[in-house]
Order: sequence, then C-alpha cells, then structure tokens
Amino acid sequence: MLIPLPHPFPWVASDIALGGLFLVGIYKYFNQEIARRHRVEKELRQQTERERLVHQIAQQIRQSLDLDEVMATTVEEVQRFLQADRVLIYRLWDNGTGCAIHETLLPPYPTVLGQTFPEEVFPQEYHQAYSLGKTRTITNVDQEDIEECLADFVKQFGVQAKLVVPIIQEYREADSQAAVNSHPYLWGLLIAHQCSHPRQWQGWEVDLMKQLATQVAIAIQQSELYHQLQQLNSQLEQRVQQRTAELATANASLRAEIVERQRTEIALRHTNETLQALVTASPRAILMLDLDGQVKIWNPAAEQMFGWTEAEVRDRPSPIRLDEPLEDCATLQGSVLQGKTYTRVELRRAKKDGTGVDLIFSAAPLLDTNGQISGIVAVIADITEQKQQAEQLRLLQSVVVNTNDAVIITEAEPIDEPGPRILYVNEAFTRITGYTPDEVLGKTPRILQGPKTDRTELQKIRTALARWESVTVEVINYRKDGLEFWNEFSLVPVADAKGCYTHWIAVQRDTTARKRADEIRLSLEREREISTLKTRFFSMASHEFRTPLSTALAAAQVLENSQDEWHNTEKRLRNLRRIQDSVNNMVQLLDDILTINRAEAGNLAFNPKPLKLERYCRHFVEEMRLSAGTHHILTFTCQGKSYPINLDEKLMHSILSNLLSNAIKYSPQGGHIRLTLEFQPNTVLLSVQDEGIGIPLEDQQRLFEPFHRGKNVHTIPGTGLGLVVVKKCVEQHQGTIHIISEVGIGTTLSIAIRRVI
Ligand code: ATP
Ligand code: MG
Repeated sequence: MLIPLPHPFPWVASDIALGGLFLVGIYKYFNQEIARRHRVEKELRQQTERERLVHQIAQQIRQSLDLDEVMATTVEEVQRFLQADRVLIYRLWDNGTGCAIHETLLPPYPTVLGQTFPEEVFPQEYHQAYSLGKTRTITNVDQEDIEECLADFVKQFGVQAKLVVPIIQEYREADSQAAVNSHPYLWGLLIAHQCSHPRQWQGWEVDLMKQLATQVAIAIQQSELYHQLQQLNSQLEQRVQQRTAELATANASLRAEIVERQRTEIALRHTNETLQALVTASPRAILMLDLDGQVKIWNPAAEQMFGWTEAEVRDRPSPIRLDEPLEDCATLQGSVLQGKTYTRVELRRAKKDGTGVDLIFSAAPLLDTNGQISGIVAVIADITEQKQQAEQLRLLQSVVVNTNDAVIITEAEPIDEPGPRILYVNEAFTRITGYTPDEVLGKTPRILQGPKTDRTELQKIRTALARWESVTVEVINYRKDGLEFWNEFSLVPVADAKGCYTHWIAVQRDTTARKRADEIRLSLEREREISTLKTRFFSMASHEFRTPLSTALAAAQVLENSQDEWHNTEKRLRNLRRIQDSVNNMVQLLDDILTINRAEAGNLAFNPKPLKLERYCRHFVEEMRLSAGTHHILTFTCQGKSYPINLDEKLMHSILSNLLSNAIKYSPQGGHIRLTLEFQPNTVLLSVQDEGIGIPLEDQQRLFEPFHRGKNVHTIPGTGLGLVVVKKCVEQHQGTIHIISEVGIGTTLSIAIRRVI
C-alpha cells in the first residue's frame, strides 16, 4: 500500500501539485499495475502448476492401474504443492468407521496412517453432504465452530487447519427392466492438514483438491473396473477352461460314440454279409415272401432244388405254394403270418420240370423294425433221396432179417482182445449158432471159436482187420451146444461218409456139408493128378530109357552078327563104348529119377556140414577144366570175405556138376565160363555164366518141369532132368534159383543160400 507524502514547495504547489499528482498517479498506477501483474503472474504460475499436478496425476492414473500407487503419488504431490503438513486419504467403511490408508507427513507430526477413526468423529449427517460433493475447510480448529470431539480428535495429531474434499463413487445396479440405475456414495476423503499454524485455504486450493479427488475417484473406478475385468477375465478364462474341458469330454465321448457307431456299422455290415453269404452258400433252399406271398429272396439252393431261377420268381407269387391247407386245415402261409413258427413240416411239391420233390419245411414269421410281421422266411430241405434211401434201407433190412446166411454187425474196434462187440445178429445167426441176440449182443464173435478153429485162418482175419480189408475164410466154429460146424464167412469193413471205418459186417454160412463134398472132390482130383503125373513121368522115363537101350542093343547085335565088326579092334571098341555110354546114361537117368523121387517123397538125404565153399569150388573147376577140353575157358572168382557155411557136400556136387556141365554143353562153339562165388553178409551167392545158345523166354518158365528141354537144343543130348535135380538140392538148403538168359548171348544161373548161424 502506498502512503502519499506532503509537498516541499507550496508556491509551486498548484502546478507542481498537479504535476506531482499526475506523477503520483502514474507511479501509483504503475505500482498497482506491477502488483496486479505480479499477482496475475503468480496466479498463472499457480494455475500452471496446478494444471501440471492435475495433469501429472491424471497421466499416472492413465498409465497405472495400481490404485495404491496412484493414491501414494496423490498425497505426496498434494503435500508438496500445498505445503501442507499432512495429506491423507481416508477410506470410509460401511459401518461408519474409517481409516487413513495413505499419508504424506512432515516431521515432527504424528502419523495417522492405519488409525481407525470412530464413527462419532465423522457422523452420518456429514456423509450426505460429502456425497453431494460438499467440501469442508477449517482455518483454525480452535476458533471455528466444530464439534468438540472432532476438535479433540484432530488436535491429538497436531492439526490446526484442514481441508477436506470427498472422493465420490457411484453405485451401478440393473433393475428388473434391465435399466441401469446409479447413485453416488462416499468412498472416502482427501484431507490436507496444516499443523504448524492455522491456515486460510484458498479457493484454488480447494478446487485443486476437488480435481485431484475426482482423479482419485476415476482411478478407483478404473482400478475397480480393472479388477472386475480381471475377475471377469479369470472367470471367463475359468469358464473357457471349463467349457474347453467340457468340450474335450464331449468331443471324446462324441468320438467314442462315432467309433462305436462305426464299429456297430461294420458289425452290422459284417452280419449282413455273413447272412447274405449263409443264404447264398446254404445247401438248404431259403425263401423269403412278403405279406402278399411274393418272393423277395430265392437263394441258389432254391434254384437248384426247384429249377426256377431267382429272376423268374422274384416279386412274383412263390411257385412253391405255401397257401394250401395242411392237415389241420390251416395254411402254412396263413399260420406263419399270424405268428406261428413251423420247425418241421413234410410236404411234397412239384419242381419246374413237373417232377415231384419231397421236402421238409421250417418256416417263421419275419419281423420288421417295429416288431410287426412283414413276411415269411422258409428254410427247405430236399428229402427225396433220404426217403428213397429209407425205402432202400427197409428193403435191405428185410433181406438181412430174412436171409439164410447169418449176419453179424460189430463195432470197428478193438481188433485186439477182447475184440469188437456185436451190435446186431439176424435170425439166421440164431438158427446156425443156437445163440439168441440177447446172449451175444455186446459180446465178441470170438465166442464161436474153439480148439479146432484154424489159427492160420484166424491170423488171416487179424491181418485183414488191421488193414481194413475184406476177407473170406472158412473155419471150424462151435455152436452154443458145443457142436462143431464149418463156417465160411466174409468180413467187410463199413466206412462212414468221411471214409472212417465204423463197423464190420460178417456174413457167415454153415458150410459143413459143402465140406466134406469139397474135401472128397479135392482128394479125388489130387489122386487123379498124381496118377496123370506118374503116367506121364513113366512114359517119358521109359521113352528116355528106350534110346540108350536101343543104342546098346544095336551095338551088341552088330558085334554079335558081324565077324568083321568083332575082329576089327577099332570097330569093336567103338561099339563097346556105345554100350558103356548108354549104360552110363541110363545110370545117370536112374540116379536123377531116384533123386527127384526121393526129394518129392521127402526122403532125400540131407547132411549139412561146415564146408569151405571157396576151396571146394576152386577144386571143382580145376577138375571140370580137365574134362572140358580146350574149347572152353573155365574161370573161378570169389568175392567177399569167405566164411564156413553148412552145406550137404553131395548135393552141392550135384548142383555144381549140373550147372557147369549145362554151361559147357550149351556153349558148343566154346567160350568163357565163369563160376562166381560171392560171400554176402547173410547170403552165399553162386552163379554160373556162359556165352552159349541161351534159353528162349517161353522155355525159361518150364525149366524145372521134369524132361522139359529148350526148343533150341537141337542135337545136344540131354534128358531134361538136371535142373529139376538142382532145384530139389537147392530147396533142401532153403535156397533159391534165378535165371537170366538171352538166346544167342548166354545164360547165367544163380543160386542163393542163406547163411544159417
Ligand atoms: P540132363 O538131364 O542131361 O541135364 P538137360 O541138360 O537137357 O539134360 P537140364 O539140365 O535140366 O536138362 O536142362 C533143361 C534144359 O534147359 C536144357 O535141355 C536146355 O534146353 C536148357 N538149358 C539148361 N542149361 C542151359 C544153358 N547153360 N544154356 C542153354 N540152355 C540151357
Ligand atoms: Mg543138364
């Protein structure tokens, strides 16, 4: 404030006074102007600072969603800006109490942070005013008219002046019409305390506090929204997770359902295909008719059984009529369509070609998916053949029952003791054996055997049974009363359809009478044969004797009647040699006949002794070589490791001399004659090989008949008994003879004798 001073020169007072007044006026004006400008400037600065603060806090609110951080900054900045001693944010709880939740404080004043303010220091009536946006300024706690309790309360924290602005929030709730209602409520307070001195709060300070409270309110809202959003987000996330899990579960069960459905479809298809295949492959005719009796299925077996093809009958009335009355007057078709099932109905129907066929029907109603009868399915078997077979069987049975031959049917096994069991015997069996069916069923046919039953024949049966072969034998059997009877029976194995033998059938006949007849006939025949053989033998023998006898007789007569022949020494000797040769031949002939005769009568002497066969043969060949002359080359070879063997030396001599003399005799042009002896482990093999005339094939079969000679022998002398003698001698040693011969090439005769240890 400028104080006007007295003028020092009064004479010039008027002008000067005017000038002075003018100057004073100007001065004053300038002073005022400067002060105004200072004030404006200060106000501008404060306003700028205020705006900066508001802007900074607003900025922070925008940048941070952390409410604590916003509130902490707010109280700090307000304290700094207002130079207050304490700035706090007071949170009002629903029960009317409250608490300082943020504070900035200058020392040495005590903190109020965390203190709970009782309800009476902040009564309910204030809430209303604050909710409506009222502020409160207290310049001096001591002087102002404030509640005592509040004054006391704030004084304990050193408060002298305070500025309180509300922080207001809004309730937002949706009503039943889905409109959103909102009303303000008091969230808390922004409070500035001055403790050092009373303070007159300026209007802009109040405005600043209000603006900042509004920013804090926004921050609170923003933070709450953020928290709600976070909550919603997490709820949403939870719901998404839950929904995802539900979807995954639903998906899995859907997949399982799809898989199951696919499986069911496959199974269904498989069942359909199986059914189709069954219908197609069934050996029984399968027909399916609809409600009107029209054919829907007619399988290949039906085509074959009745002659109509599927194409001919499909969607037409069935040619195999099912609508004809049965015994109970109902028709098969009608009854099945009313729900009846037939398992076995015998019918006779005509085929396409008019011939009859005996059938067995099984028929059942066909149900649709609703369980309603929609048609008939019939399975038909052709039993024509079966019927014929049954008839044939009946006939056969009557044959078996009525025949005069005994018929026995047994099980197939066991072949060994106790033998197969009897399953059936006919009446003839009882007549022949005296046993009734009750007495033999379950027993073995061996009950008919006895001491005189030929064991060899039984062995024959056994062998045949073991090989499942038919066999016919004739043996002595015994009746129930013990009487013997000759039983000729044929055993035949019976196989089932698979070829497995299941039974034996024996047809037996009492051949006792026919025995006897056969035996007599056979012995007569044998006698006749022997007598024929003897006659033939003697006629041939006498014929063979006649030749040397005639020769000897002729020579004797010549010598007797002709002096010349007798006195001519050469001629006499020649005739005498003829007589000697003839006699020798006859002796040889007689020897052979005797040997054969003895052998056939079983009287041929046989004295086997250990013989060193190799040495014996070698010696034999040497002797033979001397008498054979130079025409023939005789060799002997021995193979294998020699061992002593039991042989009859006399018979061996007969064998070797016959074989070697034949080889020499039937090789008139000469040649190589080989005697080979081979010691095999269990057999001795003796063979004589020549390069002579050979034996024609047709003669080879008959060489061991007495007096039989090859047709190619021409003038070569012989009686045809040598090989018969050889055979008899070999047989005495249980040996065998084998001939290989080719006409013009040569002959090999081999003898095999088993080594008996
Ligand atoms: P014999 O009683 O004097 O021996 P055979 O030689 O005629 O008279 P076998 O020895 O029994 O009688 O022989 C019978 C027949 O077999 C002979 O007549 C001859 O046809 C034929 N035969 C036997 N051995 C030979 C052989 N090595 N080569 C050709 N033919 C043979
Ligand atoms: Mg001979």
